[in-house]
Amino acid sequence: MQNILHQLGIQAINSGTSTGTWWEEEKGEFIESFSPVDGKKIATVFCTSHAAYNLIINKAEQAFKEWRLWPAPRRGEVIRQVGEALRKNKDELGRLVSYEMGKSLQEGWGEVQEMIDICDFSVGLSRQLHGLTMHSERPGHRMYEQWHPLGIVGIISAFNFPVAVWSWNTMLAWVCGNVTIWKPSEKTPLCAVACQKIVADVFQKNGLPEGVSNLITGDKVLGEKIASDTHVPLVSATGSTRMGKSVGAAVGGRLGRSLLELGGNNAIIITPDADLNIAIRAAIFGAVGTAGQRCTSTRRLIIHEDIFETVKDRLVAAYSQLQIGNPLDEANHVGPLIDKSAVEQYQHALEQCRKEGGIFIIEGKVLEGDRFESGCYVKPCIVAVKPDSQIVQQETFAPILYLITYRDFEEAIAIQNSVPQGLSSAIMTLNLREAEQFLSVTGSDCGIANVNIGTSGAEIGGAFGGEKETGGGRESGSDAWKNYMRRQTNTINYSSILPLAQGIKFEI
Ligand code: NAD
Repeated sequence: MQNILHQLGIQAINSGTSTGTWWEEEKGEFIESFSPVDGKKIATVFCTSHAAYNLIINKAEQAFKEWRLWPAPRRGEVIRQVGEALRKNKDELGRLVSYEMGKSLQEGWGEVQEMIDICDFSVGLSRQLHGLTMHSERPGHRMYEQWHPLGIVGIISAFNFPVAVWSWNTMLAWVCGNVTIWKPSEKTPLCAVACQKIVADVFQKNGLPEGVSNLITGDKVLGEKIASDTHVPLVSATGSTRMGKSVGAAVGGRLGRSLLELGGNNAIIITPDADLNIAIRAAIFGAVGTAGQRCTSTRRLIIHEDIFETVKDRLVAAYSQLQIGNPLDEANHVGPLIDKSAVEQYQHALEQCRKEGGIFIIEGKVLEGDRFESGCYVKPCIVAVKPDSQIVQQETFAPILYLITYRDFEEAIAIQNSVPQGLSSAIMTLNLREAEQFLSVTGSDCGIANVNIGTSGAEIGGAFGGEKETGGGRESGSDAWKNYMRRQTNTINYSSILPLAQGIKFEI
């Protein structure tokens, strides 16, 4: 791993950075980054002090004044080069993601590919930041709207997508003419340092002002600082619903804007008309991929009672093939949880399932022994539960799959919508009526609703996010870029009179 850190340009590990400059060297508080893969300490990252934070905000404000004047296609060209740099570093960065966070190497590379994809998307967007024109009711008048950048965009990110979520926000924010300040998860600081290094090289070559891309490292206290900082007009925060409630309140309290991407509790409805080959594969990848630590992980299967036994048996057979172990070894399907506190939450959820009368179809346990010395490896499990169980209302960030039966289709939709979260949902059916009903206004209440694919594995082209306690934010594709800009409506009078709107007369 030291070799990979070296290749990514991470030699001296420090933090509180702006483009190319590292504001603090080995002093003050620090975070130790441990790998959940083998429990080894990878490096020490120094935290951003109060003084460094203020300096960085100051630099960012200065940089914004310049960066916003760069034509958007020129900004897009810089982002194109960031995409190229990511292509060059895909292997190393993917391995670092896998080692520091614990997801499989395939998913680590996939995360970097998502970054490359959003770079490409943003390059296209750089010539498409369109506003509308409207017909004025007044003669000799023209109306149109245009979009301007906001200023400093704060990004608070979670451990489970340590690089992709930053890039979704950042590439859009930059192409729109904003500057960014990123507070990554304290559990994955090295991935963030690596991204900042990759970007800094490109920015230096292109002569960008210092302060367009800023990285600050620390725990939630630093996140709270961003949330309450009036210098930061938009705070995009990805993480737990608990965090989102706090950030949303702090940003709302100063009437700033927040973009919240919070917890999910995602379900797949499997109807009697499902193609079970597709349904089973989708359910398993959704439930055990990233060891159940995706916001879009499949947590609930809502299965028609007539096919419950068949689905259950096929799941059990497929789960018996799962290889658990070092995620950098491509033979393994499931890696570790992020840390021991996540393991405790997994154990707590299993205990709760038992208390509520859940029937374990595959028992869960913490794995011990040679290959599992980090103490973070757990066995993916399956529990049959009643739809009204309390544990099913919560998002447990672990590979626990709840099976629930239904009889009527309306009941399936009601169960699907009965949780406080509203991120991702799916239906497995070849029945057109059921599929369309699921997507209709009376169907899924989630931000993402899929047919015959699972709940996880979104593409960057669509707007990503969810409803209810998931926070309502939308990132990534479609017109999510509008969140990073302010809209201005302009009316121009090219006549020689001054007619008022609504025909109002005002004579003097
Ligand atoms: P977390 O809420 O513990 O931490 C996320 C980030 O918020 C970290 O950087 C943390 O330091 C910061 N933070 C925590 N409390 C804060 C506060 N009060 N004020 C400001 N910042 C604060 O989440 P996590 O354990 O890192 O990630 C897992 C959670 O993230 C899950 O709930 C998952 O569903 C969610 N998530 C959602 C999405 C999405 O797009 N909807 C994507 C990824 C992860």
